[in-house]
Amino acid sequence: MYSVAELIAITAAEEGSCDSKLERQPWSVDSDPGAGYGPGASAQDPVPLAIPRQQPLPAAYTEASEEELRARIMAAKKALGNRVRILGHFYQRDEVIIHADDVGDSFMLAQAARRYPQAEAFVFCGVHFMAETADILSRPEQAVILPNLAAGCSMADMATLAQVEQCFTELSEILEEPPIPVTYMNSAADIKAFCGRNGGIVCTSSNAATVLEWAFARGRRVAFFPDQHLGRNTAHDMGIGEEQMPLWRPGKKLGGNTPEQLQDSRVILWNGFCSVHRRFSVAQIERARREFPGVRVIVHPECPAPVVRAADGAGSTDYIRKQVAASTPGDTIAIGTEINLVNRLQAQYPDRTIFCLDPVVCPCSTMYRIHPAYLAWTLESLLEGRTPNRVTVKESVAAAARVALERMLEARP
Ligand code: SF4
Repeated sequence: MYSVAELIAITAAEEGSCDSKLERQPWSVDSDPGAGYGPGASAQDPVPLAIPRQQPLPAAYTEASEEELRARIMAAKKALGNRVRILGHFYQRDEVIIHADDVGDSFMLAQAARRYPQAEAFVFCGVHFMAETADILSRPEQAVILPNLAAGCSMADMATLAQVEQCFTELSEILEEPPIPVTYMNSAADIKAFCGRNGGIVCTSSNAATVLEWAFARGRRVAFFPDQHLGRNTAHDMGIGEEQMPLWRPGKKLGGNTPEQLQDSRVILWNGFCSVHRRFSVAQIERARREFPGVRVIVHPECPAPVVRAADGAGSTDYIRKQVAASTPGDTIAIGTEINLVNRLQAQYPDRTIFCLDPVVCPCSTMYRIHPAYLAWTLESLLEGRTPNRVTVKESVAAAARVALERMLEARP
């Protein structure tokens, strides 16, 4: 069983990875202003001007071997004890996950502060919006740290506050009442705050249907940010037709729609997407079914609608993990989600055939930016009394975002 880093090294020569630059270590792009999100699935996505950048790491980290980094992380972690919790997202590389105290999806991890009130700091091995959410839910004296500040999320960056406010201004000119704003967890804190201030709510990929029902109990129409696919797949399952789900393209007048299309709508979908999940296709599913008769295909709802409809099941990372756990030895399962999670499931269940639907190795560009070298640097900085890369959300923003998050926790259909 190979780690994703090893797979990239092996397949690079055969053009089996989506980006030849994946062989480079993440710090080689820290000081490259043209690097965007870095190599991987989001490499071609447009990058906002104000994207956070990571300061170059000292050579003591970039030149250290994998074994040395592992030993340094373990030693620093031991010395820091319960003062610091390391949180690892399911999509992180194994070399980082082995050090995590908690492994989970973005919301499970963001709630760590409630589980560990004594912790002084959380080192969030995930991406920026996750660290923001953890900061919103933690106490002011608890620090949330992102080991590499360049670990953003291209999907979250596809909806900015200015664009969303412009959208609502234009809608107010043609609709009798504003839509209920619903934002996916994968969005910036100021978008969550916008929802909190405007009678809206946050959702995850596990509870999107419950949240949409909550919203429809309060208004005829919903505006869904930033992932069009999660919005479309969820609304489709609720019986809403495609013709009632116009796509809002920021920068175009009325998002590129006619007033009538928007007036007839039930869900206005933002033109955002995840570049990892957009790679999955119906052709890949057909190939898996041809090559592995009896295969069960499970995908994430951030995949395009035709892919979700062609699969046997769709759900959050937690759903995918539970489906695999419920399978039996000898089963064959094809999965449409980030390769690090698929690889880990493969290793965990060696008596089943588990593979990623996409035969090309293409990890999330931004999750990939967290490497053991950054984790070692972060932990050793904490030991020396410094708090690097702290992610903080202004209290005025955090308070409104918390309203939208609390509504989600209390939402009932
Ligand atoms: S997998 Fe997609 S949604 Fe998740 S962090 Fe990466 S780009 Fe963002």
